[in-house]
Amino acid sequence: SDRISARIAGINPSATLAVDAKAKALKAEGRPVIGFGAGQPDFPTPDYVVEAAAAAVRDRANHGYTAAAGLPELREAIAAKTLRDSGFEVSPSQTLVTNGGKQAVYSAFATLLDPGDEVLLPAPYWTTYPESITLAGGVPVQVTADESTGYLVSVEQLEAARTPRTKVLLFNSPSNPTGAVYPREQVEAIGRWALEHGIWVITDEIYEHLVYDGVKAESLPVVVPELADRTLVLNGVAKTYSMTGWRVGWIIGPDDVIKAASSYQSHLCGNVSNVAQRAALAAVAGPLDAVARMRESFDERRRTIVAMLSEIPGVDCPTPQGAFYAYPSVKSLLGKEIRGERASDTVQLAEILLREAEVAAVPGEAFGTPGYFRFSYALAKDDLVEGIGRVARLLGEAR
Ligand code: PLP
Repeated sequence: SDRISARIAGINPSATLAVDAKAKALKAEGRPVIGFGAGQPDFPTPDYVVEAAAAAVRDRANHGYTAAAGLPELREAIAAKTLRDSGFEVSPSQTLVTNGGKQAVYSAFATLLDPGDEVLLPAPYWTTYPESITLAGGVPVQVTADESTGYLVSVEQLEAARTPRTKVLLFNSPSNPTGAVYPREQVEAIGRWALEHGIWVITDEIYEHLVYDGVKAESLPVVVPELADRTLVLNGVAKTYSMTGWRVGWIIGPDDVIKAASSYQSHLCGNVSNVAQRAALAAVAGPLDAVARMRESFDERRRTIVAMLSEIPGVDCPTPQGAFYAYPSVKSLLGKEIRGERASDTVQLAEILLREAEVAAVPGEAFGTPGYFRFSYALAKDDLVEGIGRVARLLGEAR
């Protein structure tokens, strides 16, 4: 084309944002829409973080560029935090501060992939992964798990998808969109398998602190230390400190990869906003009280939403043990009549849900698995109960 490049024209618009936009438009018209689409905590950023940012704005030391890889103090704090939270011991030189976890994902793939390199991508997957793999010239190879295994892929499935072109395994536990958390034995089995075959692992730990029922999010390079030389850990402040809008994330990896990714970043964006880095420093170097309070509140909503969804005929909702999403199967409702319409896929069913029940949920198509809905439970409990009540009444009409 003489306008948009094939590379950029090939990007699918984010379905998560599309649902959110539709819901917002209806809300603006005065409709009482309840949105389960958003992937962000509904809490304010902690005060001491906001104060650190306000002070940083006034300090002219923060008005210039920082080193491309990030403020030295922040990189040190990230290394210390990583040891504290997951037990992974790294030096500050092994960290790179990025514009949110999203840029960490993109830069990690861009730094590791040559054209045609394959990335094993467990599905349901977070929407951004396949797009960033493709943009980096790689080929996403989807490995799908369903509700029968709690959305956990097995080593056998990964092995069946492995080819001579497989370079990377993307690993995300706790998972967006399913909330699934891999138990230690399975993390270890997957890590051993990757090690045996020389496969790199990019492990996205952004939901590490949002786990329930006493489960623990295990860090792959801690469970299988020999894998550390071929592992990139992705993380950020967005979900732990309710800082989605501040745009600070990071990559942790071997020195050579971090050095290469830093050179890339120096041309891509220079550095992450100084003020945001100062705010992230206050967050990362500070306590985990705020996330403990959020976790308690999310846990209560999690129990409520799972209980309510499970009572709806035709809805099968495994209990998520992490993040803030429920991911029920609604496959058996497809093709049934609801208010004179038959949805043949979950995109259509989500449209019916939005129009007839004024509830926004993201269809499974966005995550590589049609037949499911993702409900974020990062919303007020009353809204949650009202919204799922509406879903139950509408879907209860299916014949
Ligand atoms: N990784 C996962 C699995 C996510 O769900 C998200 C946000 O939705 C991110 C990374 C990136 O978050 P951010 O770019 O806001 O730091």
